Amino acid sequence: MLWWYILNNNQLLTNVENEQISISGILRDFFVLLYVTVKKLTKIEEQHKRFNMTPVRQISALIVEDSEEDTELLLQELKKGNYNPVHERVDTWETMEAALKNRNWDIVFSDYTMPQFKGTDALALLRETGSDIPFLFVSGTIDEDMAVTAMKAGANDYIIKGNLKRLVPAVDRELREAEVRRERNKAAATIHHMAYYDTLTDLPNRTLLRDRLQQAIMVTPHDGKAAGLLLIDLDRFREINDTLGHQRGDLLLKQIGPRLREVLQETHLVARLGGDEFGVLLPHVNTKDASFIASKILKVMEKPFLIEGMPIIIEPSIGIALSPNHGENPDSLIQRADIAMYVAKENKKGYAFYSAEIDRHSPRRLALLGELRNAIESNQLFLLYQPKIHLKTGRITGVEALVRWQHPEYGIVSPDQFISIAEHSGLIKPLTLWVIKAALHQSKLWRQEGKLFNMAVNLSARNLEDTHLPGQIAEFLKTSGVAASLLELELTESALMVNPFHAMEVLTRLNKIGVQLSIDDFGTGYSSLGYLKRLPVNQIKIDKSFVKEMATDKEDEIIVRSTIELSHNLGLKVIAEGVESQSILDKLVALGCDSAQGYFISRPIPSHELSEWFKDTAPLRGWSL
Ligand code: C2E
Ligand code: CA
Ligand code: CA
Repeated sequence: MLWWYILNNNQLLTNVENEQISISGILRDFFVLLYVTVKKLTKIEEQHKRFNMTPVRQISALIVEDSEEDTELLLQELKKGNYNPVHERVDTWETMEAALKNRNWDIVFSDYTMPQFKGTDALALLRETGSDIPFLFVSGTIDEDMAVTAMKAGANDYIIKGNLKRLVPAVDRELREAEVRRERNKAAATIHHMAYYDTLTDLPNRTLLRDRLQQAIMVTPHDGKAAGLLLIDLDRFREINDTLGHQRGDLLLKQIGPRLREVLQETHLVARLGGDEFGVLLPHVNTKDASFIASKILKVMEKPFLIEGMPIIIEPSIGIALSPNHGENPDSLIQRADIAMYVAKENKKGYAFYSAEIDRHSPRRLALLGELRNAIESNQLFLLYQPKIHLKTGRITGVEALVRWQHPEYGIVSPDQFISIAEHSGLIKPLTLWVIKAALHQSKLWRQEGKLFNMAVNLSARNLEDTHLPGQIAEFLKTSGVAASLLELELTESALMVNPFHAMEVLTRLNKIGVQLSIDDFGTGYSSLGYLKRLPVNQIKIDKSFVKEMATDKEDEIIVRSTIELSHNLGLKVIAEGVESQSILDKLVALGCDSAQGYFISRPIPSHELSEWFKDTAPLRGWSL
């Protein structure tokens, strides 16, 4: 209608053609148009009312009636009420049964008593099919008692043949109510769907998975096979989500189900448990089958996912739990597959089976997860400092702050046990801020004692996504009064590779503040020195895995040697970590490495011990503060 008016309203078109468009002009035209339309519609409605032009309505009516004549009267009455009925007359159980199968009916009219068929049986037959379309008795013989029985049996109304005037209003009402029922059922089906399916991916959700898991567990295992559950978590998905935006992250999640389906069978159920976690129920497997399927999943997930033409690689970790050995109810299976999944993630193994052995550690992991926030807030964390030595001068160039957790129950917990928890639970930010603040405070105390050297702090990959971090560090530097050039941030190579663009932005801002940046664990990632050179970094820290063995392992020595040479060519300083012996130290000096750090020089120690360490050790080796 609107388009018809637009096409016929030359005024509006002319305005457009003459390019005299102004907002007020368009608005004026729009309101004129609206006014004309409403006027026209009101007029049509009035005309309809005047001539009683209710539009003709099509209905399909099944008429259970032995008399042709009565059928004709009924149809006439319907036509008078502006219905255009398509109908079929039946008068036996068999013919009605066939008619119900043949098509969908809007309404059923039925006589009450017929020679070969009872109206109540017709009603029973209809309801037996599960249909709730209106059923109206139209009978000459119906009395009050019959009517009550009929209604109780589920008829919608009864009409006496001698008083057919009631027919059309009854049909109107019943069709309307049937429509309402249909809408309600549709809504109920939608609600049901929402309760059992994930809205984003349309995959079954956790509730449905639990249901199906329950059913699968109930089946008695035979031939050594029973229900198995695979929990799949996408490593790095959060980073992808944060970098590319949630919408693109969603596009990726939508592709997971179909991708998994490529290697699964009909009987396997794929569910999304939330976030980037998916579950696959294998109703009938043994250990061998489950690992075979897990390997196939890992393989098929290797293919990059295309998001708006951009290839994205994700690495899944799969935890597997099998019934009845690992759990006899859905919740314990899910929980144990989850524990196995963490093991797979940590060991970077791809997939792992649950075992009681690994579970012994996991309650502790869960406990740590629950307590970490409080630990940060209530100062249960403390720092140890490991000195770094300049190899030419023997002077201390700085210390690396390494965090520890003084746990009330477990004693001192090492960072390897809680940094990854912090990274996965969003606590890495408060943790890092705590560490930086504490480290700068210590720096300030040492400066007051006249000791001036670098303070290095470790950052994690997640920290590089936090665009507020540079500002917060600048703020901390200001309050502590420590010169920015004395703060060094260590970033692992892999952290920089998670999101090179974002990392570049944060590093550039950190560089502007004036802090030193160094690449930690160098050699363990895939970055090239050429790429790293483009980053505003000052120093490369060769990973301890190469340094530790370099005295005996020729290949490691070559790696260390070439890293030192290349870095120097690129204008970067080099430090070797993991120096555990005099011979390694000597070799590093010979290779021209700038500085060194390791147990041979000093283990990480509390702040007050650093001065002692100096007094005791440094003079012996010619080191100075
Ligand atoms: P990292 O940054 O590579 O730190 C060096 C680790 O090697 C330290 O372990 C240190 O004690 C150890 N180490 C030092 N010298 C030697 C040696 O000669 N031989 C051997 N085998 N090991 C040596 P630590 O303190 O347990 O820290 C482990 C990791 O935890 C660190 O590795 C770092 O990635 C992380 N971490 C520690 N503190 C923090 C922190 O405050 N924030 C973040 N994000 N991560 C931290
Ligand atoms: Ca480090
Ligand atoms: Ca390191």
